[in-house]
Amino acid sequence: SKQSGKGKISFYKAQYQYEFSRRVDIQNSIKHNLENKSFRLFYQPVFCSKTQRISGVEALIRWPDTEISYTPDEFIPIAEECRLIEPLGEWIISTALQQLSDWQQNFQIPLTLSINISPVQLQKSTLLTYLLTTIEKSNVKSSNVILEITETAFMEDSKEVIDILTTLSNNGFRIALDDFGMGYSSISHLMSYPIDIVKLDKSIQPLDDNNDKRLKIIEGLSLMLKALDFSVVAEGIETPTQHALCNTLGIDYLQGFLFARPMPAHEISQLLKKEK
Ligand code: C2E
Ligand code: CA
Ligand code: CA
Ligand code: CA
Repeated sequence: SKQSGKGKISFYKAQYQYEFSRRVDIQNSIKHNLENKSFRLFYQPVFCSKTQRISGVEALIRWPDTEISYTPDEFIPIAEECRLIEPLGEWIISTALQQLSDWQQNFQIPLTLSINISPVQLQKSTLLTYLLTTIEKSNVKSSNVILEITETAFMEDSKEVIDILTTLSNNGFRIALDDFGMGYSSISHLMSYPIDIVKLDKSIQPLDDNNDKRLKIIEGLSLMLKALDFSVVAEGIETPTQHALCNTLGIDYLQGFLFARPMPAHEISQLLKKEK
């Protein structure tokens, strides 16, 4: 009836208004947190499967420890939409590089740092300039820095993205293709972009249910990646079965809750102390 139709519209309108004001709230909070430098970075260890030692860490942003909290999957897309990802991204880069420099001084062990780069950041050369000047000022080598990008960065297929990545690569930074997996994955990206490392998405991990097709796909993919000389990282490893499969497949680097969760910098320092 007319009545219920109207009810529906006002329901959607209320939903929309709620969504909208939530976004505005998050946007304002991002600005506020940036100004107050209250975001935090956690770091998740990445292990070398051969030596079983920490080979590096991935920086993962965390909302400040406040009453209302959001996950990166909630607030990063909003930061991207309102362009706050640029100042946020710069804060992430400078904080993480400073942290790596501290670790290198305190523990003389080789360590890589992975930084997630949003596709939005890759659309402008400001990122390039920022990375080159920040690394120059720091005492970190660019070859110890891995920039993690996702395939959405290639959707535009712009020459600009290729140019930016190529310049970064020529300057020693290593490029990882993140979330490579069952979703939108194009093998041609592996040839057209200067990619050194491929991270297999957690969605690609076989469930422990002997799903034969899934297993064959993973086997085929990892053979192909090895033949193409990529370093391969498996992320989201949660079970010993998944770990065993990674070993069978000869995956180079391992990351996941089975080994270590993302943690604050001082906890990484504790781990590094033990590794020494
Ligand atoms: P991602 O780059 O694929 O990061 C991996 C995510 O998987 C992280 O979630 C990590 O905590 C989680 N994870 C690690 N091991 C396991 C596991 O064994 N099992 C499961 N279920 N999850 C695991 P997080 O920190 O919530 O980040 C989610 C996404 O948000 C990231 O996905 C990345 O796309 C984005 N993000 C996080 N930090 C940053 C950042 O500093 N900059 C940018 N641009 N994006 C970020
Ligand atoms: Ca990542
Ligand atoms: Ca990932
Ligand atoms: Ca992701």
